[in-house]
Amino acid sequence: MADSSFDLIVVGGGPGGYVAAIRAAQLGMKTAVVEREHMGGICLNWGCIPTKALLRTSEVFGLIKHADSFGLSVKDVSFDPKKIVERSRKVANQLSNGVKGLMKKNKITVFDGTAKLAASEGGQRKLAVAMNDKTNVTLTAKNVILATGARARQLPGLEADGKLVWSYKEAMVPPEFPKSLLVIGSGAIGIEFASFYRTMGAEVTVAEVMDRILPVEDEEVSAFAKRAFEKQGMKILTSATVSNLKKGANNVTATITAGGKSQEITVDRVISAVGIVGNVENLGLEGTKVKVEKTHIAIDQWGFTGEPNVYAIGDVAGPPWLAHKAMHEGVLVVEKIAGVKGVHPMKTESIPGCTYCQPQVASIGLTEAAAKAKGLQVKVGKFPFIGNGKAIALGEPEGFVKTIFDAKTGELLGAHMIGAEVTELIQGYSIAKTLETTEAELMATVFPHPTLSEMMHESVLAAYGRTLHI
Ligand SMILES: Cc1cc2nc3c(=O)[nH]c(=O)nc-3n(C[C@H](O)[C@H](O)[C@H](O)COP(=O)(O)OP(=O)(O)OC[C@H]3O[C@@H](n4cnc5c(N)ncnc54)[C@H](O)[C@@H]3O)c2cc1C
Repeated sequence: MADSSFDLIVVGGGPGGYVAAIRAAQLGMKTAVVEREHMGGICLNWGCIPTKALLRTSEVFGLIKHADSFGLSVKDVSFDPKKIVERSRKVANQLSNGVKGLMKKNKITVFDGTAKLAASEGGQRKLAVAMNDKTNVTLTAKNVILATGARARQLPGLEADGKLVWSYKEAMVPPEFPKSLLVIGSGAIGIEFASFYRTMGAEVTVAEVMDRILPVEDEEVSAFAKRAFEKQGMKILTSATVSNLKKGANNVTATITAGGKSQEITVDRVISAVGIVGNVENLGLEGTKVKVEKTHIAIDQWGFTGEPNVYAIGDVAGPPWLAHKAMHEGVLVVEKIAGVKGVHPMKTESIPGCTYCQPQVASIGLTEAAAKAKGLQVKVGKFPFIGNGKAIALGEPEGFVKTIFDAKTGELLGAHMIGAEVTELIQGYSIAKTLETTEAELMATVFPHPTLSEMMHESVLAAYGRTLHI
């Protein structure tokens, strides 16, 4: 029997949980993780990583379809859905196994089972763990971090059934690719699947209840994305409500109301991507001070739940539901527990968000509308991909980089971009925001040429009427 007493036990081995455990081990804490399914959580097994493997396939396929524009001729392009899915699963498994290796390397004990809080004793937290091998163990810890993640939201009448109506899980491992698809919801998850299946040849309709797609993004980005997707042949319905899904033997007829008109569309498959809910059930929270608000555990700026020595991080602790937010929270909560000096609370406005559709979308901080709604005077610079040499050389002339500054102070308020590789470009702004860089410092920075990163420079220059290449 492994040890049962620890300084810290993390419940859930997703990016929040396993990173928290590694940081705790680095700080000398005797650490354990309880994981009921796969190390790496949703991110490595059913989220970030396998979707990016699929999207890489569709990106390459899309490029091959335009081979002639690169002076290449490619005949008889085809694909095998089974092999595409196999590649994605292989990538996911490789990374999940990598996390198991990291646990070993850091001497973190992993319990394969499902944990819940039990009554604490003598200032020690107790966890009851139903092990996957059907045994039960009780673990003891000075501190517990709940990092149990989240799952797809099910809306009444639009529930995923795994066959005709998919959640992200089924959409990632289809036995065959649908010829037609309705995606309900145009957040990052919905749009990534819409983009993947459209590039692979499906007729794709996206229904979004808000008045624009990618509703958390800057309005100009949403509008640009809509035009780009429509140009690719996607059908986009905004202010649209899907009220009914009538299932046939191998298709679904959806009733969609948009702009006061109702229509029925029949598709092979539906992907329901209408948000996520936290995994807060069966955690033994009853009778504790842990509060659940709108399916998420309420925490303070240090991840503290209100129940002595119990913390929560990542998706279960609320939005934004992003792996890097979960990891960052994991580190800061552990450092706070360990009494590390100079730990800063998370600044939500400095968490970048990326959507890996074609064209890619990335952003950080306030949108232009949000900055104005706060009463701020803004300076906005915008630079198009068409003005960037590297973008033209890559054959990627579509997109723009937009930068928003506070006109009075020069504070970098936000950045919003759409186009090739912007998910890699956004980190320039992340660093700038963390360092509280001003417009003057960004303008004085030397950017390498020819790179897409020069558009960050140009966009900053544009905000002050100094753009060079347009
Ligand atoms: C399709 C899709 C694509 C995504 N793409 C991106 C992306 O590109 N970038 C990005 O930043 N984010 C992305 N996300 C979101 C990202 O996956 C999550 O934000 C991230 O996984 C959250 O990490 P977490 O550690 O909080 O929880 P999770 O990764 O959900 O891990 C929680 C773990 O806890 C385990 N668990 C739950 N309850 C218990 C219990 N009682 N006992 C033991 N174990 C338990 C679960 O089995 C799970 O492994 C995507 C999500 C999806 C669904």
